[in-house]
Amino acid sequence: MYTLNEKIRDLEPYKPIAGEYKIRLDANESFLCLPESVMASALHAMMRVELNRYPDPTAKDLCAAFAKSYKVKPACVAAGNGSDELINVIFQSFLMKGETYATLTPDFSMYDFYGYVSECRGIEIKKDENFTIDIDKVIETCNNENVKLLIFSNPCNPTSVGLTREAVRKIIRGVSALVVLDEAYMDFWNESMLGEFENYDNLLILKTCSKAFGLAALRVGFAVGNEKLVRAIKAVKSPYNVNTCSQKMAEAVLKNRAEADAAIRRLLLSRDELQQKFDRMAQRFPEKLQTVKSVTNFVVLRTPYAKELYERLLAESIAVRYFKNMSALRITAGSTGENAVVTEHIQRFFEEKEQA
Ligand SMILES: *Cc1c(COP(=O)(O)O)cnc(C)c1O
Repeated sequence: MYTLNEKIRDLEPYKPIAGEYKIRLDANESFLCLPESVMASALHAMMRVELNRYPDPTAKDLCAAFAKSYKVKPACVAAGNGSDELINVIFQSFLMKGETYATLTPDFSMYDFYGYVSECRGIEIKKDENFTIDIDKVIETCNNENVKLLIFSNPCNPTSVGLTREAVRKIIRGVSALVVLDEAYMDFWNESMLGEFENYDNLLILKTCSKAFGLAALRVGFAVGNEKLVRAIKAVKSPYNVNTCSQKMAEAVLKNRAEADAAIRRLLLSRDELQQKFDRMAQRFPEKLQTVKSVTNFVVLRTPYAKELYERLLAESIAVRYFKNMSALRITAGSTGENAVVTEHIQRFFEEKEQA
């Protein structure tokens, strides 16, 4: 009888929140559809795809559009089937079995998943109570523990907190590890390292089209770094990793920078609206609810009632994300209507608690 090995025996397929919900604020997706003109050019580009041919393995035109949009050299960009694939590729190839990587916890859960599957040793450097990062502790731990790869998101999902460029520079300069800087949410803030990655030989930056660009369905992400690092990624990724339809559609969207910037401004307005409503609620119920100052497109609510509130919202057909380890809910900025419904329910929940 065939038995699964120890490594995979107990793994479960990734399960996003299952079922149909009226309001989905659980996955940090954009709530906006593409503007009609952008959708038209994306569809037009897709119509000309030769489906009988394999995709361009280098995703040349897509990488060029990204490079132009972010003012980096095309040779410094590699495309992936979502940045998720690139995280996997990086763990599998930049680390040897048993080597050590470090994460700053709490952070994006996929890092540890791919670290585990790659049979590497993970160490967790804990953030403090306010989700801030002790830079000196990070540097010291990485160097003492012979860390080969340090990966973290900035701004961070799930905490919504960001590290300044100056702090990130200090980490990159202070460690000998490869630093994988996941800037999935940096389109919502302005402390990106994309303008200076060439100053470092140990920095890879990850970007995605899934959040600010509203293309989660296409699965398109990028790795940016010096040519040596990016060439290594291109050499180890699977050749036809990004399908032609996704390459063409994402390219069309990236070529419309002005439309993308307009969408990002709308997402930020929605985030500000949510943040303000929750800040006011936190002032009203200080013992029961605390907020975090978000620099992303989602807001974090810290409450001892996180699980109960999460279940209450699900019962109202509203999906948000519950984080047991932070005793918190992560709520993606939605449309004005969605924000109003979710904040109303949460306000009512705390009013009831106050009376109880
Ligand atoms: C959403 C997210 C990603 C994954 O992006 P894809 O390109 O859709 O795979 C990567 N990192 C962080 C921190 C994210 O929140």
